[in-house]
Amino acid sequence: MALTIVDQAGLTDVGRQRSSNEDSFLESAPVFAVADGMGGARAGEVASRIAVETLADGDAEDGEAEAQLAETAQAANRRIYELAQKDDSRAGMGTTFTAVLVDGGDVVTGHVGDSRLYRLRDEALERLTRDHSLVEELVRRGELDPKDAESHPQRSIITRALGPEPEVEVETFTCPGRAGDVYLVCSDGLTSMISEERLRDLLGADGSLDEAAQRLVEAANEAGGKDNITVVLFRLGDGGGATAVSGDTLSGQETRADLSASEVRAAAEADRGATSHTAAASSSSARGRRRIGAALAALVLAALLVGFYFGSREFYFLGTNDQGLVSLYRGLPYDLPLGVELYEQQYVSGVPAASIEPGRREEIVGHQLREEGDALDLMRDLEEGRLVPS
Ligand code: MG
Repeated sequence: MALTIVDQAGLTDVGRQRSSNEDSFLESAPVFAVADGMGGARAGEVASRIAVETLADGDAEDGEAEAQLAETAQAANRRIYELAQKDDSRAGMGTTFTAVLVDGGDVVTGHVGDSRLYRLRDEALERLTRDHSLVEELVRRGELDPKDAESHPQRSIITRALGPEPEVEVETFTCPGRAGDVYLVCSDGLTSMISEERLRDLLGADGSLDEAAQRLVEAANEAGGKDNITVVLFRLGDGGGATAVSGDTLSGQETRADLSASEVRAAAEADRGATSHTAAASSSSARGRRRIGAALAALVLAALLVGFYFGSREFYFLGTNDQGLVSLYRGLPYDLPLGVELYEQQYVSGVPAASIEPGRREEIVGHQLREEGDALDLMRDLEEGRLVPS
């Protein structure tokens, strides 16, 4: 069934703690997108703007809508990557990208990173995207409880972005739309500040989507506004009014002409790099630390370079140091390129790892993430010989 977009809104806000806004968005029916940039010296702002401008310019070849979105994301990725290669001040810049195209009766999505797409249908709110983030990865591997994910200190670390690598894997999918559906595309500055329950209530309240967008941004600010907040909303209705939706969108001139400066918004003035934190590399050089995949590592490194603070201090793990002794580490068991480690050594025991029964070695010194108390208890057990065969 042909659907129309009967209402739409887009709003971005710097939040209460950042000095600049590195989010960009596109609200140009039937195409909508949010990009959340990262990179010091305003590079994140550049990256996110390139992403939405590439979408708005619609250089993609004709073809299936999912393929068009994927190709657009790839094109934006190449542009950002090439610009970063040419300019040291923009090295490592990147952006999330969540783009939605209403194509006939379908809602088609292309997605990279941790911006999100939600659908409110019959008063039920459903998240349609999954985050490409370290936290979601840890949940998937059973190393983190899902209920702890939303408040996790590392939740900003993303495992995929446009820009840091010459190629990117774009997730695409299509869902049938229905009259009455409300869709929300947003940056993590919204979802890290308010619960999904609150989101549903604010979205479902009466009024225009402009009003809903205001409510959402206000709620995120009232909750602390720790990050830039961007929301893009649209509502589907039965055919007949408002914006007719055709599939021929990404390559049309209409989208380009419709795009005003106010629609592709990015950034405020100040340079966020000056206030950003950097992670300290510890001096320990433990052997056998697991290496994460190159792409993941590069993205995590990009996140590092642009100033996410890796406050990975809630995690501890046991491993083996250069002398083969069981050691306690604080942080995450990952090495990044350029010798950056996400952990630091806290304590070296006198217990050789080789003295642990081989069948239990992986379980004990295999870098399983533990709470501080558990890690210390285990270390004590080892030192007191309770786990070492006599
Ligand atoms: Mg953000």
